[in-house]
Amino acid sequence: MDGNVNEIISDLKSYLGYLKEMGISFLLASEHNSEKAIPSGILALADVREELGDCKRCKLHRTRRTIVFGEGNEKASLMLIGEAPGYDEDVQGRPFVGKAGQLLTKILQSINLPREEVFITNIVKCRPPQNRNPEPDEIRSCNPFLVKQVAAIQPKTICALGSFSAQTLLKTDTKITALRGRLYDLEGIKVVPTYHPAFLLRNPERKREVWEDMKKIAELMQTG
Ligand code: URA
Repeated sequence: MDGNVNEIISDLKSYLGYLKEMGISFLLASEHNSEKAIPSGILALADVREELGDCKRCKLHRTRRTIVFGEGNEKASLMLIGEAPGYDEDVQGRPFVGKAGQLLTKILQSINLPREEVFITNIVKCRPPQNRNPEPDEIRSCNPFLVKQVAAIQPKTICALGSFSAQTLLKTDTKITALRGRLYDLEGIKVVPTYHPAFLLRNPERKREVWEDMKKIAELMQTG
């Protein structure tokens, strides 16, 4: 054990020496983020998943195939939160993997963000039947887990995808068209509401506004 620790410290020293020789005297953001410690009393992401278990807290469990907990970098500085899993997500157990998901991946690429670098989840973790909107009792049942995910990840920025996500996170009934274009604060986390990629598939002329929101996100991620 001690030998291992010494080896890690010695590796780290030579890595830092290498960076210094290369003239790099700072750590890149992603490396810095990987040092984010979870404050005591806050569950790690794996523990949040464990607590969620084979959830039957709301009626969506009766029709879902899979719980779609979310995926990505658990030290991400950007979290994207959608509405609810759809058919493909329910089958694969992964968020945003259908047509809307493919567009979301492209949107992230447009600001040079690989999907693996962010964390993606939804307001509710189970697919509503026939992709209907999530109901208030379902959102309420799932919300403690979303709150714990956010606490575990401690993102700097949250991108709220679509009305349900933005309205739930910002506790408002205001429409997404009125919410987007402004920055919000959620207990120190910047929230950027934008249109849902499924809405963009139906209304491609709104892509320009999403591009503006993405540029804002890229700027926030750079300024730290
Ligand atoms: N739409 C969402 O809101 N979330 C998904 O995971 C897929 C589609």
